Amino acid sequence: MPTSNSSAVFRAQALTKVYGEGETAVHALRGVDLEVARGEFIVLLGASGSGKSTLLNILGGLDVPSSGELSFADHQLSGADEAELTRYRREHVGFVFQFYNLIPSLTVRENIALVTDIAAHPMAVDEAVAMVGLSARADHFPAQLSGGEQQRVAIARAIVKRPDVLLCDEPTGALDYQTGKLVLEVIAKINQELGTTAVVITHNAAIAAMADRVIYLGDGSIQRIEQNAHKLTPSQLSW
Ligand code: ADP
Ligand code: MG
Repeated sequence: MPTSNSSAVFRAQALTKVYGEGETAVHALRGVDLEVARGEFIVLLGASGSGKSTLLNILGGLDVPSSGELSFADHQLSGADEAELTRYRREHVGFVFQFYNLIPSLTVRENIALVTDIAAHPMAVDEAVAMVGLSARADHFPAQLSGGEQQRVAIARAIVKRPDVLLCDEPTGALDYQTGKLVLEVIAKINQELGTTAVVITHNAAIAAMADRVIYLGDGSIQRIEQNAHKLTPSQLSW
């Protein structure tokens, strides 16, 4: 891992997270040091319970570390209060989770448009729809779409505000392999075409070939980091 990197968007030092207290305390993160460069595509791998979601949530300002330092560009996130974290999330972060959380009574276009009201420099809704390959479905309702298509709507909703970082927690967890592949390709394309820094938790090890770095978490610690000298574009993957 590079030491101090001037292009780093995230800088984490000795991050810990402890849930609960005393006998029942759970040490979800046990001292994580990490720098993420602007535009990097990071894949987080690790067994269930290894701390992946905890780390992602802390990077995204949804949770706070118990100790350690964390900054995003020139924002100090460790020690930030709830109002500062809310503003950070709103201005800089797009989230994608396993479940899509679309509003059933709104069309694809309307689900995405909801977010643009509170964004400073959103892209056009139809541009976001096109990025995820759903232009022909823009007037459909979520129930008329497959799981993979719904997840692509959720991705469009996450990127329409042009976030600096896209944080994805098992975005393919509810999808079959082929559908999941399409969803991961969309995330890789956004990283490449918009330069959005992406951190993706996935069980689909094949996506590791598309990442700049693969970070293996185990028991709350970084076990190993692999750098891909020649990352593959989605179309170069054989899976
Ligand atoms: P992963 O995403 O790798 O499966 P998590 O980050 O969700 O792992 O969880 C790491 C550990 O922290 C697990 O032991 C989990 O049970 C625990 N944990 C996560 N969130 C909480 C919470 N809100 N309260 C208590 N324990 C938690
Ligand atoms: Mg998790």
